[in-house]
This record gives sequence, C-alpha cells and structure tokens, in this order.
Amino acid sequence: MKPEIPFNKSKIVATIGPASNNKDTLRELIFAGADVFRLNFSHGTHDDHRKVIQYVRELNDELGSHVALLQDLQGPKIRTREIQDNGVIIEPGKTLVITTEDIVGTAERISTTYTSLPQDVSVGDMILIDDGNLELRVTDVKGKEVITQIVHGGLLKSRKGINLPNSNVSAPSLTDKDEIDLTFGLEMELDWIALSFVRKAEDILDLKDRIAKAGNTHTKVIAKIEKPEAIENIDAIIAATDGVMVARGDLGVEVLMEEVPMHQKMIVEKCNMCNKPVIIATQMMESMIKNPRPTRAETNDVANAVLDGADALMLSAESASGDFPVQTVKSMVKTIEHAERSESVYEKFQGLEEESKSYNNDYLVATACDLSNKIGAKAIVGMTKSGYTGFRLSMHRPKAPIFIFTDNKKLLNSISLYWGVQGFYYDGKKTSTNETFKDLANILKEKGYLHKGDVFITTAAMPLHWQAHTNMLKINEVE
Ligand code: PEP
Repeated sequence: MKPEIPFNKSKIVATIGPASNNKDTLRELIFAGADVFRLNFSHGTHDDHRKVIQYVRELNDELGSHVALLQDLQGPKIRTREIQDNGVIIEPGKTLVITTEDIVGTAERISTTYTSLPQDVSVGDMILIDDGNLELRVTDVKGKEVITQIVHGGLLKSRKGINLPNSNVSAPSLTDKDEIDLTFGLEMELDWIALSFVRKAEDILDLKDRIAKAGNTHTKVIAKIEKPEAIENIDAIIAATDGVMVARGDLGVEVLMEEVPMHQKMIVEKCNMCNKPVIIATQMMESMIKNPRPTRAETNDVANAVLDGADALMLSAESASGDFPVQTVKSMVKTIEHAERSESVYEKFQGLEEESKSYNNDYLVATACDLSNKIGAKAIVGMTKSGYTGFRLSMHRPKAPIFIFTDNKKLLNSISLYWGVQGFYYDGKKTSTNETFKDLANILKEKGYLHKGDVFITTAAMPLHWQAHTNMLKINEVE
C-alpha cells in the first residue's frame, strides 16, 4: 500500500486565490502534494481568507493531513491608484507627474498610495511600475509632486506596484493595513507569517515582538527578501528570522534581474548553514497559468532549486488564479521526485559544519541522520514537544523521510514547511519507550509509509516526558 497523499521532501507552498479557494480544489491540491497554503494579504478580504482557513482546517481533520497556513503581509508595497478607463498608454520621452493627491490618473498625471514618495526620491532616481515593465526617471520634485520622464512606456493600469530601486524608502516595515491583517492572522492562529519588503533584522524582531505580545507562542516568521537593503543585511536577517523567502518577483525589479540567480544561491546556502527553512518563490511554473505542461526551463528551475538546497518551492498565480492549479502542483511534485533521486541533494549536507550546534544532543541527531544513510533506513522516527528534534533532523537532509510524532497540535502544521519532515499527532500513553515506538511503527505501517521488515531509526528524549533534549538512538525493524 502507498500513502494516499504524496510525500515530497522538498515542500510545496501553493498560493490560494480565486482558482483554488473552494473546498474541492483545496482537497485536490492536498492530494496532489501541497504542504503549505499561502494566503496573500495583498489581495482578498478577511472574509475570503477566513473561509479558506476554515476549509483547510476541515480538510486537515477529514484527511489527517497537516497542511500549514502561511499569511503573507503586504508590507510597504507602493502602488498606483485608480487610472482612468483602468489603463492608459504612456509614451517614452514624455513627462509623467506622480502626485500623492487622490486623483484618477491620466497619461500625464497619476496618483500613488505612498505619501512620502516626494521626500524619498531625488532627481535622477529610477521609478519602476508594473514589475519593471514601465520605467521613469525623476527630473524634479515639487511639494506633493514627483516629475518624471518616461524611459520605457506602455500600458499603465490601476493599482500596479511601484518599485524604487535607487531610493531609501522611509515607510515603516508594518503599514496600518499590515497591523490590521496581523491582528487577524494572530486571531486565526496561522502557522507562519511572512513579511514583505524586509530591509533589516529589526523589521523581523519588531514583528516577532508583536506576535509575542499578542500571547502567541507558536506562529513563526518568514522574511521575504526582495530589497537590496535586505541583501546587504542578509546575515542579521537570517539570524533574526525563523525562515526566509527568496521573493524573486520584486527582487528582480529592485536589483538587476541577472543578479537574482546568484542571490538565490547565496541565500539558500546561508540558510542551510544556519538551519533556517528557505522558500524559492515566483514564476517557478509561470507558463502553467495558461498551459497544462511546464516549459523545460521551468522544470530546470524547480530541479535546480531542489539541488541547491531549498526547503520549499512556491507557486503564486499558478495556483491562485491559473487555469491548472492542481496540475501545476502535480508537475512540481514529479520534478521534485526526480531531483531528489540525485545524490547531490544529500551529499553537501554530510558533515555539515553547524554554526548553531547548541547542545551535545545535536550531535546525536546528526549521528541519527548519518547512520540512517549508512544502513539505508526507510525512516527516521522522532518524538517532540517543541519541534526541535524535527527541526534538527531536517538540517542534515537524511535520505530517509523524517516522521515526527507529537501531542502538540499547534506545532504539527508548522513543521510541514521543513524539508523531509512529516508530522503526526500522537498522544498514546504506553508503558515503555519500546512499546511506544512499536505503536508508532504500526501507525506508519497502517498508513503505508513502512512495511514488514523495513529498518528504521528512532530518536527521542528518554524517559519519554518529551521535554528534555534528544538522548536516545536505536535501530529497529518493522514487525
Ligand atoms: C515576490 O515578489 O516574489 C513575492 C513573492 O511577493 P508578492 O507575491 O507578495 O509580490
């Protein structure tokens, strides 16, 4: 028997939107292999998001799955306001004024949501609109108006993103809208919260502080790397955050697009060394918004992200508004499965120098992974209260899947983002450690993850009060 829901070690984050926000499609996405659902708070109302959260929780109960929910806060995203007829053509060489007054835009004068724009830009700065498709150069600043010359023209539509790659944006890291959305996300007890346009470690520390002050102890934070300042401050940001997203959409507008591949590799490597999960985001399967098959280049992009050491790969419009959301996840799973057969996914993690080895027990976890590779174990089975064991096992990238059992329900979904880890709820009260692990092996056998005769490794804190650090390692055989 094979498990009904595929288990890929590199995880899939699927953004939910109009193409996928109904219960049937969410169910299909789970069966296709999605591990995390991203709710993008740049779009949709709280009622829209609440409905999805409810469906996902119902499905997790119904299917015994542990799909995590990730709230993506918009951050200080700068946008154009309404444009007349929802779009006008702007022509290269002509002048375009951007005002902070709330007007309906024309081909000569448009308005922005960002009231500090005139203070933040200087003559000569570049302004990019709509993912960099339109380019302006600042020629003057007068009161509430920024005067620009159009460098690259085209169709300018309402509410398009504005990027200021050469300017220091003074906006706070959390806008008024983010604060309202964050309160909602914390009320809903979402598993992960991603912050857009992070510039420095303090942006993350401030968010963590707000989460802690709200009395929330389990929600973890993702820093979206999409600003040149974030690249400059990357070490401190990685140290401060629980996870990272390489947000290639905005990053590719804020820095030279040609630099993004090297930034991606640099960030993945640093995250791997510090044991912080890293998500590669945007345009991974872009053509599947309209086509039932990916391009060769997209398949390569996904496979290379896996080979580089990414923990998770993200779908945006492909799953939120595309024509083939479920098919896209299936295609991604197939590519991941093939890439994960390559030795190089695991090799570079063997004997990994750990900068963050905190306890002697961490060496035991490393040994469990090493041993599992040497004896060809079919699984590493761990128990945890805090998630620490799963987290530590994941960083060594063992070839065997990591099955983590816990009675901490809040933890279960959040660990779905960790590479190689699958969580299970367990609150069985057995008389001994041996009896407990026999019980866990039976559960895994019933679910189709292990079979009679399979060798597996167990690791836990003994005695099984689950609060101490991992101190036991054992080789077992499924009966
Ligand atoms: C990105 O810019 O790549 C990204 C993931 O952010 P968003 O989708 O919020 O623009």
